[in-house]
Amino acid sequence: MSKKYKKQTKKQSEKIVQILIDEYKDAKCGLDFTTPFSLVVALILAAQCTDKRVNEITPIFFKKFNTIESVKDASLEDVMNIVKPCGFYKNKAHAIIQSAKIICDDFNGKVPDTMEDLTKLCGIGRKSANIILQECFSKVEGIAVDTHVTRISRKIGFSNGNSQFKIESDLLKTFDKKYWDKLNHVLVLHGRAICIANRPKCDICPISNLCNKND
Ligand code: SF4
Repeated sequence: MSKKYKKQTKKQSEKIVQILIDEYKDAKCGLDFTTPFSLVVALILAAQCTDKRVNEITPIFFKKFNTIESVKDASLEDVMNIVKPCGFYKNKAHAIIQSAKIICDDFNGKVPDTMEDLTKLCGIGRKSANIILQECFSKVEGIAVDTHVTRISRKIGFSNGNSQFKIESDLLKTFDKKYWDKLNHVLVLHGRAICIANRPKCDICPISNLCNKND
């Protein structure tokens, strides 16, 4: 029989996240970008791929396609050839070209700055839109929930939701707004360094005595 899920209180949750914020002082977006559109491209490429690999490919991509219009007019084959090392390259190349078309045709060539409009782009869901809003437009409206945030939120006891939407909703209810912009970054770093999928290093974890260690 599986153990009963143990949830944290709001006070304890904020105490835990403050410890992680102190631990990962330099936590920031791991993707390199210079413009909102370069972050759109990086986020599309980052699905099932490491930030390191994406950061190797985006400079090559923008050397060849240095405007949104040039991406819009690019052939699928040309884009696929460049983004191939990031995996799922046909879908990703298609999403990049389609997003460039939507930005040019519907948003006057500018990446939009609302959740509603960003999620109209191809390959950009709520998670990526939250990151674009925060990083490019200084708008913190939600919390980007990725695989690390999902796994660790469950482990610690922040949320036992089964969807990214439910987990984000639980996190938004639990945490004061001042924590929202930092939550994704610190949980991603914690997930890479300590709370690794299937082999968490609880013995050296700075929140080990507070974590509920749910299954
Ligand atoms: S104590 Fe273990 S399960 Fe909890 S956050 Fe740390 S590494 Fe993860």
